[in-house]
Amino acid sequence: MDKAPVLLLAPLPEFLLQPLLAAYECHDYFHAKDKDALLAGVGAQIRGIVMAGGSVSPVALLERLPNLQIISVFGVGYDGVPVDWCRAHGVRVTNTPDVLTEDVADTASALVLMTSRNLIMANRFLQAGAWLKGPFPLAHAVRGKLAGIVGLGRIGKAIAHRLEAHGMRVAYHGRARQDVTWDYFDSLLELAKAADFLIVACPGGAATRHLVNVDVLAALGAKGTLINIARGSVVDEAALIAALQSGMIRGAGLDVFENEPQVPQALMDCENAVLLPHLGSGTHETRRAMAALVVDNLAAHFGGKALLTPVC
Ligand code: NAP
Repeated sequence: MDKAPVLLLAPLPEFLLQPLLAAYECHDYFHAKDKDALLAGVGAQIRGIVMAGGSVSPVALLERLPNLQIISVFGVGYDGVPVDWCRAHGVRVTNTPDVLTEDVADTASALVLMTSRNLIMANRFLQAGAWLKGPFPLAHAVRGKLAGIVGLGRIGKAIAHRLEAHGMRVAYHGRARQDVTWDYFDSLLELAKAADFLIVACPGGAATRHLVNVDVLAALGAKGTLINIARGSVVDEAALIAALQSGMIRGAGLDVFENEPQVPQALMDCENAVLLPHLGSGTHETRRAMAALVVDNLAAHFGGKALLTPVC
């Protein structure tokens, strides 16, 4: 049987690439030197796309793939996919929810502890030999503090459970109140005012762009720390840098940035920020489970079966 032609929009790990190469005629758009020539040659045959959570499939590209049937995202966030366009053109979209939830929540709670206890600075302090001259300065406890979660979805809830285990109180903001015991704030500004840690766990994309702006940071204030494991686009990064520099907020723990992998030097220079290279789901176990879901969704689609995790 002929292998279905599939376009790869992102660099993929071997444990995903190998099963894709075995089952499909893969065309590496990401590494192609002449992308236009690649599309001119095979665009009309392409039936599937595989992309990463952080990659983008613009309408201008999709319009050159008249026989496209499915986009499979290796990640839960699909803000790089024009979903309305796909729906209107009968293109199915899948992602990899659930299997990454626990690892991303671990990363968020690690950032809460790293920022509150100054653990990165403490590590540097010891390695620089400063302990021989005196003790490390006192930090802040998390117990009793309020964690305000922006976007109480799968990951947001998993973060809430972890932070409760650390003795923290939890409240949340989203577009609607949920059937949970945690306090709901319909105003993000009011949640920021109340919170000691404002933790961003909502989707990226146009609807949430710069949701955390200078007003939200001012409301969070000098008692507050911003944690972002969602998407860099949700936070106004220039306003955040200014807030960290001026002491408007106490600190930040960030796994995502507006223009990854570029991180502004001014942000790297902020000693009150802990910065991670978008590793929220970056474990062997989780990335393999995500890869299996990508492969299984494609197999279901091309085998005429229901998708395991449909977006549309
Ligand atoms: P999810 O279950 O869909 O949860 C998203 C939550 O955000 C929902 O509860 C939704 O609630 C809320 N939300 C949507 N729009 C909002 C808005 N305008 N303001 C406030 N809340 C809003 O998704 P998930 O699986 O938890 O994943 C969340 C996001 O995490 C993903 O979209 C992805 O971008 C990011 N992520 C990052 C990493 C990483 O490596 N750092 C890894 C995985 C995922 P309502 O609809 O009620 O508002």
